[in-house]
Amino acid sequence: MVKILIDNGHGVNTKGKQSPDGRLREYAFAREIAKRVESCLKCKGYDVERIVPEDFDISLSIRCKRVNDICRKVDAKNVLVVSIHSNAAGCNGKWYGARGFSAHVGLNASSNSKKLAACLWDKAIELGLKGNRAVPNDRYIPQDLAICRNTLCPAVLTENLFYDNKEDLELLLSEDGKAAITKLHVDGIIDYINNVLR
Ligand SMILES: [Zn+2]
Repeated sequence: MVKILIDNGHGVNTKGKQSPDGRLREYAFAREIAKRVESCLKCKGYDVERIVPEDFDISLSIRCKRVNDICRKVDAKNVLVVSIHSNAAGCNGKWYGARGFSAHVGLNASSNSKKLAACLWDKAIELGLKGNRAVPNDRYIPQDLAICRNTLCPAVLTENLFYDNKEDLELLLSEDGKAAITKLHVDGIIDYINNVLR
């Protein structure tokens, strides 16, 4: 049985990380999507755990430890972690033009991490969440990210649209947008399990 771990970035005590008009806070958005992804996958019979049930910020080292404790108990090959975020082009309370989804892996990413990222990005494109970003051929962006670098299982960090873009923000706050972002995670993870792991 595959163990699906969902990480939600940041906490109620994380400063900044909000839309210029204050309507979206990244920690709250990430938790809402994480809960939706968890319950949707559980309904389909998958084994899912959110590694940060708390509302406050849990340090990356503790989050990585929580993932790795599970990886050591079961076979790390059958574990995956997706860390859910939303992007910002600036951190200065201004609006920007960049829009769309991206999937990030560590600089030391395994081939399965890259395949998981591609499954998620493919679904995002299918669901019309490409935005105005250039999509790399491989459908992942390598980046030095602790949650990817220091975990023992395939790991992807998703940046779900830009909360400092006016159009993306409307989508992020809408039921249609939240449903699409939930669906891309659920369907992308199931695709990975069915087509890469089996
Ligand atoms: Zn973030």
